[in-house]
Amino acid sequence: MPIDGQLSFDIDELIREDLRANAPEWQGAPLYFTTDYYSPSELDAAFQHWKVLYGNFGCIPLSHMWHRGFSGISDRLTFQEHSIAMFTADLRAEPEAEGPGDLIYQAVCEPCDWHHVSGTENGAVEGWHDHAVPGWRELPVIPAQVRVREQSSLTKLGRRWIEAHYPPEMQVPGAPMITERARYATRHVAGHSPWGGYDLSSTALGQPASDDNAVARSSPKLLSAPTAQPAVSPGAQVLRR
Ligand SMILES: [Zn+2]
Repeated sequence: MPIDGQLSFDIDELIREDLRANAPEWQGAPLYFTTDYYSPSELDAAFQHWKVLYGNFGCIPLSHMWHRGFSGISDRLTFQEHSIAMFTADLRAEPEAEGPGDLIYQAVCEPCDWHHVSGTENGAVEGWHDHAVPGWRELPVIPAQVRVREQSSLTKLGRRWIEAHYPPEMQVPGAPMITERARYATRHVAGHSPWGGYDLSSTALGQPASDDNAVARSSPKLLSAPTAQPAVSPGAQVLRR
């Protein structure tokens, strides 16, 4: 580190030492990992406060605190009275350590004081849809050959297919669509449905992708057949009873 850089780093650390020694008692969300419910702004404020006290360097692995990961949600994503904010926490014991379960995810619906913590980003997103969009698992899967997106926009064919197959009450702001995916392209993508909701991977439904019967699988009836039961979270089982 250059001398000047080292000097300002030392001064910053002195300031933080003073803040830590004389900080007024923190009243917000815990300054460590928690699975209790806190609103997005409370989680943001707590993480910001940790950084003021201890610095930005290594703040994610050292604090283990909830922070905004790369969720692709640029604005508030809402569906009816619900909204989703996504957070990530890094639970590695040591900053350099690696292993399964390093990252944990949380979806927060602030209007409902509701949240869902999951070991995967997809699990958190699916939990939120179970909470906010009842019946989403019955939506038709858009077959891969429809090519619903081209680069950053929806194709005409994709729009036409969706308009013809999706129920009108699910063609509203924030509603998701479900697209058939290749084996490794299973991430749920925020903001990519025609209504600004999620583009959910068909793997959410426990449907192995195969070109042979993609169109047949797009039938909602087939999705609820006993042989096509998805591996669902407890919240989804309530929807399916
Ligand atoms: Zn909600």
